[in-house]
Formats: sequence, structure tokens, C-alpha cells
Amino acid sequence: MCGHGSFGWSRGIITKRGIAGRFASVITDLELEPDERPYEGLYDYCVMCGKCAKNCPAQAIDMQEGKKHYPCNMWLNHMGEVTHFADTCGKCQVNVPCMDHIPAPKFRQYSILK
Ligand code: SF4
Ligand code: SF4
Repeated sequence: MCGHGSFGWSRGIITKRGIAGRFASVITDLELEPDERPYEGLYDYCVMCGKCAKNCPAQAIDMQEGKKHYPCNMWLNHMGEVTHFADTCGKCQVNVPCMDHIPAPKFRQYSILK
């Protein structure tokens, strides 16, 4: 995953195409030049706006401590039971500043963590 992006506070990866996406792996013996890594910290692309925490129906994201996986998993199990269809959620990845791009610096003014 090195070079793809940094973590967001909701623990997804924020890439240049945002956090709302999925990765797949390709195994190859092709020799490839490594991409330049334009960030340094684990959370460099997260602007700590708190929108993912507000969106979360399970209150699984705490802006002091980060995402708690247990309540998220419990919510996903609940969704699977009530829908009989899909144990998915992803409300932390949609309608957020990092949804489909690296958040612009202007979002930093709305950050709840200074
Ligand atoms: S919604 Fe805001 S706090 Fe949550 S991961 Fe995206 S930029 Fe970070
Ligand atoms: S997937 Fe749903 S329950 Fe889990 S952290 Fe994201 S919004 Fe919350």
C-alpha cells in the first residue's frame, strides 16, 4: 500500500481519488519503478474535520481516540441481520471532504481538532 495515500481518521486510506473506494491486488514479476510518496505522516491527508464521526450511525469514530472497530463490526452484523442482504455501511466514506479526493486545505478551517 506504500505510496497510495495516508489513513483517514475513519481508518480508510485517502488516495488522490479519495477514501470511498476498494483496492484489488495484482501479483506480477514485472519490474516497476516505485512511485514518489508525497506525504510523510500516517494521517497527512486527513483534515480532522470530524464529518466521518458525525456520519457514523454506530458512534464508532471518536475524534480523540479514532475509530473503534468493535462497534463498527457490531453495526455491520446488525445491518446484515436486518437487511438479509448486505453487512455493509460505509457512511464514514460518503458525503465527507475526503470522499473522492484529497481534501483541500480550506477544509482545515472546519477541523474540530486544532
Ligand atoms: S471525514 Fe474528515 S476526519 Fe474523517 S477521514 Fe475524512 S478528512 Fe479525516
Ligand atoms: S462503516 Fe459505518 S459503522 Fe463502521 S465506522 Fe464507518 S460509518 Fe461507522
